[in-house]
Amino acid sequence: MAKLPHFLVVPFPAQGHVMPLMEFSHQLVDHGAKVTFVNTEYIHNMLLSSLVDPKDGQQRRSGIHLVSVPDGLDIEEDRKLSKNLIYSMMNTMPRHLEDLFKKSESDDQKIDCVVADATVGWIFDVADKFGTKRAAFWPASLAVLALTLHVPKLIEAGVIDENGTPMKEEVIRLPHGMPDMNAFKLMWESSSIPQMREIILKFIRTISKAATVANWLICNSIDELEPISRDLVPSSLNIGPLLASDRLGQPTGHFWPEDSTCLAWLDQQPVHSVIYVAFGSTTIFTECQFNEIAHGLELVGKPYLWVVRPDITHELIPSFPDGFRDGVTHLGKLVAWAPQQKVLAHRSMACFLTHCGWNSTIEGLSLGVPLLCWPYSADQFHNQNFICDTLNVGLRLNKDENGIITRDEIKVKVQKIYSDEQIRSRANKVKDMQKGV
Ligand code: UDP
Repeated sequence: MAKLPHFLVVPFPAQGHVMPLMEFSHQLVDHGAKVTFVNTEYIHNMLLSSLVDPKDGQQRRSGIHLVSVPDGLDIEEDRKLSKNLIYSMMNTMPRHLEDLFKKSESDDQKIDCVVADATVGWIFDVADKFGTKRAAFWPASLAVLALTLHVPKLIEAGVIDENGTPMKEEVIRLPHGMPDMNAFKLMWESSSIPQMREIILKFIRTISKAATVANWLICNSIDELEPISRDLVPSSLNIGPLLASDRLGQPTGHFWPEDSTCLAWLDQQPVHSVIYVAFGSTTIFTECQFNEIAHGLELVGKPYLWVVRPDITHELIPSFPDGFRDGVTHLGKLVAWAPQQKVLAHRSMACFLTHCGWNSTIEGLSLGVPLLCWPYSADQFHNQNFICDTLNVGLRLNKDENGIITRDEIKVKVQKIYSDEQIRSRANKVKDMQKGV
């Protein structure tokens, strides 16, 4: 039998990176390829547990060969995004990947192509040793890729220094077609996460190199959605949106088990009535902000589905305001992790209150759902501008003078988006545009 083309796929170990690459891998398998998907051991174990079907305790098969390598951290160390994790991976993973290459050759399963998340593009040095083709995968928007690749020019022009510090408070003129930007609104300036500036700058260097040495640059975006950025990064193959429904399959790559009971609950709600509230896999709120969300959702008086991850606040268990639980049974449904793509595709969706992670953004846009934007870090601020100013399919939630998004702000914006038929109609146009209608 002829050997199948063999792809080695390596994501960055975070939910928003693993899911789209897993979807891409499924599409490769559907096209007759063999895929070996390499996670860090920590993520690999989470994926395997979430693949267990609660009905029969059996592990669902994914059709992809899942393997793992160590990330170099001790078992008890924190795996949240940090400099420590990044440097530990860079020092540890290459030699384990080399072993995978050697094993594939001795098993007569030679790897033909490495598909690596651009943020772990240093893996291409290993691919190089084995003369393997390289595809760099970009899981965020094309515009953010264009901006990332433009950073060396900003340094050269003295707009920012080598450490990303803006040299003057001035408006930055980005390449033709991209909106001008205040130097203090750059990705690494707008995040409150510790070390985020150093992390993003490290990523930028890795991504720029990966984009140069890769044979292909693949992006989870769509030509029609970002035509200006497409012209700025003409080498990018834009293969989005990477949705499981497009291949009539189930989304895979979740780190936590999905609570599908919410789908039956959605079935009971009227068309275009439900607010879906989810802030991705890493957003964390202060207790005060968490309380305002709870009160705000109740104040609106409409049905809502809210994803409350166990680690969504700094508390061990998120604590709800007094009396809130009773209210929840009346209006809302809470889950720890939702089957988000199916939720967004449900006829009951009225709007999506989102942190504007790129996967959530492109899922919402592809499924025609109006968006309420509450960005938290990094590229999410840019995605908010894209949603609200370029596409006009969403509204911003604004912080008060204490840096809080109040219950009243939530109520006002949700009510506004409910009654704005034009936003819904534009959201539907964006959805059709992506289907080439
Ligand atoms: N997601 C999900 N269930 C949830 C919340 C999120 O399946 O309850 C998925 C969502 O569909 C998206 C990914 O998790 O594909 C989150 O990626 P995104 O880029 O939006 O945010 P991140 O987690 O990277 O901040």
